[in-house]
Amino acid sequence: MASQREKCDNPRCPVCYPNWKEEEEAARRKVEEDTFVTLMRGNQFAWALNIPTGSAREIQLTLANKCTVTGANAEILHFSQEPLANLADPGQRMAFVMRAAARFDELLHNPLQKYDVENSLYVLAHPR
Ligand SMILES: [Zn+2]
Repeated sequence: MASQREKCDNPRCPVCYPNWKEEEEAARRKVEEDTFVTLMRGNQFAWALNIPTGSAREIQLTLANKCTVTGANAEILHFSQEPLANLADPGQRMAFVMRAAARFDELLHNPLQKYDVENSLYVLAHPR
């Protein structure tokens, strides 16, 4: 009968913890994800409720057909007005991306706006 050997104090011991690298990597990623969630939620909450943090910004995507060097007059897709909306949530993030993709698809199928898209992408790709 194999007895359960006691593990040593070294958390990186390859004998006691053969998966220590993977586990450290997973823990590091978890911290990053938690930080991302906190930042995204804090920003959205402060922005939607007008809490004067000095740094909260609306989450939005600028559509390429109206991109300008300064960002002026750009057509923008808004994420959400809800204080509890969470861009760190994969479902909400994907819904936002899908809305942007649908809008982009619409522009590409518009007989006039598709040329705006083409021109804007050209300008973005060839900065002067
Ligand atoms: Zn050990």
